[in-house]
Amino acid sequence: MAIERTLSIIKPDATARNVTGKIIAKLEGAGLRVVAQKRARWSEAEAQKFYEVHKERPFYNDLVAFMTSGPIVLQVLEGASAVAKNREVMGATNPADAAPGTIRAEFAENIERNSVHGSDSPDNAATEIALCFDASEIVG
Ligand code: ADP
Ligand code: MG
Repeated sequence: MAIERTLSIIKPDATARNVTGKIIAKLEGAGLRVVAQKRARWSEAEAQKFYEVHKERPFYNDLVAFMTSGPIVLQVLEGASAVAKNREVMGATNPADAAPGTIRAEFAENIERNSVHGSDSPDNAATEIALCFDASEIVG
């Protein structure tokens, strides 16, 4: 299995409830290594750019408002098949469908306030990592 990197975001619903450490423990427990991490508060423009792929979706404006409503924690995760592994430990987008033990099953409030973002392909991971981190901030 190839060693990959993926972008992870701990969302404002989770920072508000002070569960970033519990979420990071889940990621590390799945074998993912945090090789970059920073806390940030996105501007509207930053959130709009990050979620540009969803701009035609009905939930886009609400999603941008949510993602700018409080602090987030941006991370680069590294490990074997990191993109798929992270999606597995995150669980389904809607916590009602998320498998027991996944981050979203345990922490998400609803389909929007679902605690974490994870890249959905290696190509998108590379794009999202480059958007959020300078190369010098990633230390594997
Ligand atoms: P995922 O984060 O699982 O990759 P998507 O890329 O489809 O899911 O959606 C991006 C984010 O938009 C979701 O994580 C969630 O916060 C929000 N979202 C997705 N679908 C809905 C929806 N039907 N209603 C409200 N918010 C949604
Ligand atoms: Mg997605």
